[in-house]
Amino acid sequence: SIVVLGSMNMDLVAYVSRAPARGETVTGRAFRTVPGGKGANQAVAAARAGAEVAMIGAVGADDFGVRLRSNLEHCAVDTDLLRTAEGPSGTAHIVVDDEGGNAIVVIPGANSTVTSLSHGDEALIGTADTLLLQLELPLSVVTEGAATARRLGVRTVLTPAPAQQLPPELLAATDLLVPNEHEAAALTGRTDPRAAAQALLRDVPEVVVTLGASGSLYAARGAEPVTVPAPRVRAVDTTAAGDTFVGALAVALGEGRPVPEALAWAQAAAALSVQREGASTSMPYRTEIEAAFGS
Ligand code: ADP
Repeated sequence: SIVVLGSMNMDLVAYVSRAPARGETVTGRAFRTVPGGKGANQAVAAARAGAEVAMIGAVGADDFGVRLRSNLEHCAVDTDLLRTAEGPSGTAHIVVDDEGGNAIVVIPGANSTVTSLSHGDEALIGTADTLLLQLELPLSVVTEGAATARRLGVRTVLTPAPAQQLPPELLAATDLLVPNEHEAAALTGRTDPRAAAQALLRDVPEVVVTLGASGSLYAARGAEPVTVPAPRVRAVDTTAAGDTFVGALAVALGEGRPVPEALAWAQAAAALSVQREGASTSMPYRTEIEAAFGS
């Protein structure tokens, strides 16, 4: 099974033909509230891809919190250890343009109250094969989660987003690091994904750099890097493409698929998600992934 230690946000999404410049007002064509947050998105992606998934995190004591929790329950994610904190839920204010590009402001809210793990959290992590982590919770608890998983022999997969410098103790407890190109460049100062991946291998044993429409690059210590091209599709909304990819990748690796096949499977999932609007609402189910992967 998979445990996610991560964020839950309500995505407040404005659809516009082009994003406004500073000081400018544009009229958009639609507004939607969609449950999101990198943690919750990865949890939903993994659950839809066919794994048993539990979430550790927090929602606020507001209407968004009620919806965020029930959304995970509807997606068959175990929420027994989800906290309800005083104050607002996390929110993400997202502008999606006609090219499918996005610009995002995240306000952490309840996510910032997750500062340490309970005994229950540790016990749950100990039952999993894989712990998924991102950087939308306080770094101290992300580090504690990774170190706990490492101690219990649970594989750790870290999405280093939003990009920031990582504490050495966190890197030391990370098995697989999955940055996108921008995050890989921010972490290493190298814009070439191959060079960035090589640099990251000094800190972690395995790296996958996602390359948007170009697919992904896998690098491991002592092996030749592998690039797997993405399916060619028409993207309408790339929000949460990376989270869909990571959730599906964790499922495929957990099922023992070889890395290149797991990457192709995760890319089939991510390619389906970019063809639909929204974050978790756009994520494909296992049968859809299998159909796309086989075709
Ligand atoms: P993020 O969403 O974190 O910025 P990427 O843009 O690298 O990450 O996308 C993650 C994955 O989603 C890619 O590795 C790819 O598999 C898939 N993907 C993203 N954009 C497209 C696209 N336009 N066409 C097909 N697949 C895509």
